[in-house]
Amino acid sequence: MEKVVVNNYGSFDVAFAKSKGSTMWDINGKKYIDFIAGIGVNCLGHNYKPLVKAIAKQAKKQIHISNYYFSDVGICYSLDLLESLGFDRVYFGNSGAEANEAAIKLARKYGQLNGGSKRKTIVTLEWSFHGRTLATLTATGQDRFHPDSFAPYPDGFKTIKANDFDSLKNAFDDTTAALFIECIQGEGGVNLIDKEWAKAAAKAARDAGAIVMCDEVQTGVGRTGSFLASDDLEIEPEVVTLAKGIAGGIPMGACLFRGKAKDVFAAGDHQSTFAGNPLACAAAQVVLDTVNKESFLFDVNQKGEYIRNIIRTWDLPIVKEVRGKGLMIGTQIDSSVKPFDIEVKCLEEGLCTTTAGTDVVRFLPPLNISYDEIDAGLKIYRKVLESFCR
Ligand SMILES: *Cc1c(COP(=O)(O)O)cnc(C)c1O
Repeated sequence: MEKVVVNNYGSFDVAFAKSKGSTMWDINGKKYIDFIAGIGVNCLGHNYKPLVKAIAKQAKKQIHISNYYFSDVGICYSLDLLESLGFDRVYFGNSGAEANEAAIKLARKYGQLNGGSKRKTIVTLEWSFHGRTLATLTATGQDRFHPDSFAPYPDGFKTIKANDFDSLKNAFDDTTAALFIECIQGEGGVNLIDKEWAKAAAKAARDAGAIVMCDEVQTGVGRTGSFLASDDLEIEPEVVTLAKGIAGGIPMGACLFRGKAKDVFAAGDHQSTFAGNPLACAAAQVVLDTVNKESFLFDVNQKGEYIRNIIRTWDLPIVKEVRGKGLMIGTQIDSSVKPFDIEVKCLEEGLCTTTAGTDVVRFLPPLNISYDEIDAGLKIYRKVLESFCR
């Protein structure tokens, strides 16, 4: 594969051939438990019948029509999404970075309209991750994502320290357009944002005339046991971005607006060719209808607690902390072991995981993973962690 695909990912030497639920098989028939779900994308697992059916049915009707027109499924899905989440407008994209680019552009225009050319700065958090385009990379609060090779980076971004009340002093002024935060930092290490700090940060930003935007590309669509993690922080963001799980595996992103952000974009301000096409909307409708139910989200919380508690009971010396919310789970590992080595060993043993930050093994399993698959995955995980304790 290295010969045909640009080796941007440092991919493992495994080729998958088929999957069902939270179980995957490689081309040699070896079985793996999926604790990563395509990095939080396959929120309903693999080969989920109602999703497959809806995609097949829509493919027969129409796949794509361009945003010069509306589609029946696009209108229905947009109305359902906005009504159930309490937003006024949606812009669709095809990825998380694209949804975030829309948010960044909107924030800058909001600044222009509410303070002129000086109000353009977007404040993000240390250890955040917002994507791989130039603007979203710059917004990302981790220097390892800013090598000189891709310079120059765009201006107008500033980072502050999360959960640190001192960092809020002088953070916002008449040059701030928006505060832009992940509700739990995924890529940065499964770092929880303290609710009281988030509320204070949102208030300080608004007092300075800025809007509040949440990057829920990873935390959204039920991942944390609420449909939106920002609801738990009680900060009522004017803008929320979604992607990853939104259409269960079909590429899609969304940027939701309300309040002061509602009428900022005008015709022609921002567009994308594939965005929100009927195929993606048909898939996203199934995800919304399935995930946005109290009983489903209750199960996500239960399963997350179940996994975290079991890992804690192992009481292993290399495990410093088990944290997260819902099915966004991080195991912080002692500095004696590299999380990447654990990931490699897990894969050898038939468990797909990933890493986060500098010292965390991260799980983002399908939201409908079965307890049997959880137990099978945890059995492998325990064996691997124990092998590093010797
Ligand atoms: C994955 C991720 C992104 C980038 O999404 P892409 O679809 O890869 O562009 C942005 N923000 C957060 C919080 C993410 O987890």
